[in-house]
Amino acid sequence: MPHEPHKQTHLGRHPLHPESMMMRYGYNPMWSEGAIKCPIFQTSTFVFESAEHGKAFFELALGKREPGKHEHPGLIYSRLNNPDLEILEDRLTLWDQAEAAAVFESGMAAITTTLLELVSPGQIILHSDPLYGGTNHFIRDTLKRFNIHSVSFPSHWCESRLMQFIEQEGLEKRIGAIFLETPANPTNELYDIEMCARVATLLSTEEHDVFVLVDNTFLGPLWQHPLKHGADVVLYSATKYIGGHSDVVAGAALGSKELIHRIKGLRHQLGGMCGPMTGWLLMRSLETLKVRMERQQATARKVANFLASHPSVALVHYLDMLDPNDDQYRIYTKQCLGSGAMISFEIKGGEAEAFRFLNRLQLFHLAVSLGSTESLAEHPATMTHAVLDPQDRSEFGITDSMVRLSIGVEHPEDLVRDLEMALAEV
Ligand code: PLP
Repeated sequence: MPHEPHKQTHLGRHPLHPESMMMRYGYNPMWSEGAIKCPIFQTSTFVFESAEHGKAFFELALGKREPGKHEHPGLIYSRLNNPDLEILEDRLTLWDQAEAAAVFESGMAAITTTLLELVSPGQIILHSDPLYGGTNHFIRDTLKRFNIHSVSFPSHWCESRLMQFIEQEGLEKRIGAIFLETPANPTNELYDIEMCARVATLLSTEEHDVFVLVDNTFLGPLWQHPLKHGADVVLYSATKYIGGHSDVVAGAALGSKELIHRIKGLRHQLGGMCGPMTGWLLMRSLETLKVRMERQQATARKVANFLASHPSVALVHYLDMLDPNDDQYRIYTKQCLGSGAMISFEIKGGEAEAFRFLNRLQLFHLAVSLGSTESLAEHPATMTHAVLDPQDRSEFGITDSMVRLSIGVEHPEDLVRDLEMALAEV
């Protein structure tokens, strides 16, 4: 490429904020006739200037040699790399201050590829509960076929209790990864990332590393930065806040250059990379990420307060409402920079009351997914978490009366009015 990408991170000595970098970082308009926006590079393959260039690009892509001083890996084929993916990956690293990122065509592709790369047959995944239905199915059922097993632990266990359990069960040498979804979907249960990173260090040996993998979909990339708390890889369903408009399915994995290089290696084989159009849509979305997420959180706080004071509501699960005496509050203040825009609440009654409420909503859409501009409502027990074993569901507190809300960017008064009218009908 004739020009270097813009990678300005400072104005003088002043470090730029990620939201100021989302409009130009990693791109150079001179690549595309001066187009201010990165075009959609809707192409499967790239032309080499000469056979020597092609040979050099493959040597770097296959890791046959290190790049020369001013040498950049060239574009070869869109399963391996594409400008829309590379620029998006550069921009995504900025929020979590990660060394590298890999983007995928779905959150599940990011999660499954990362687990398959970092965990080996015979090992065990220690994980939080509850997990998103798709992740739960993959970790508990699908991976068994590859002789990778799993065991979960509750969020209230301290480090010594967790180590005691691992020793009692004889798992010290078998754990390959600690997988956390925090806050958990849909209960907003928090797991202590730093504590898990310490346990992973205790279990790691010269022969094998224990990786801490965190699904940060519920709070990231604005309100929680797991890498700073010792996680090795951060995972996203970019379908949610990062995409933010319910018009794209995508995922991402972020971490050190070394781990992301490994994850990309398997992504190249499995073919789960995101396409150029998806990459372009996510770059468009990243420009408004902060304003959207801040507005969503401010509205969620108002909605949660309204619900907590309503006579038909038995319980509200929202991070901003944690009791300061609760250990969950300690984790929240240490680990999270905001309470997010996901609220779960229990309506008085059961499934019938929850369904009556959901069917009466007019402004909230009755749909799964989250983090988008429009507000969504769903029933976890029969929808997103229907795949869980009923006994597990009740143990995790996913009751028949639970409703999950994802707050969008509508006017808060309109949303509260919609909830109030639907609750009145229950
Ligand atoms: N992780 C969480 C917390 C989710 O809520 C979801 C989807 O809802 C996923 C992962 C999977 O992401 P995707 O649907 O983009 O594959």
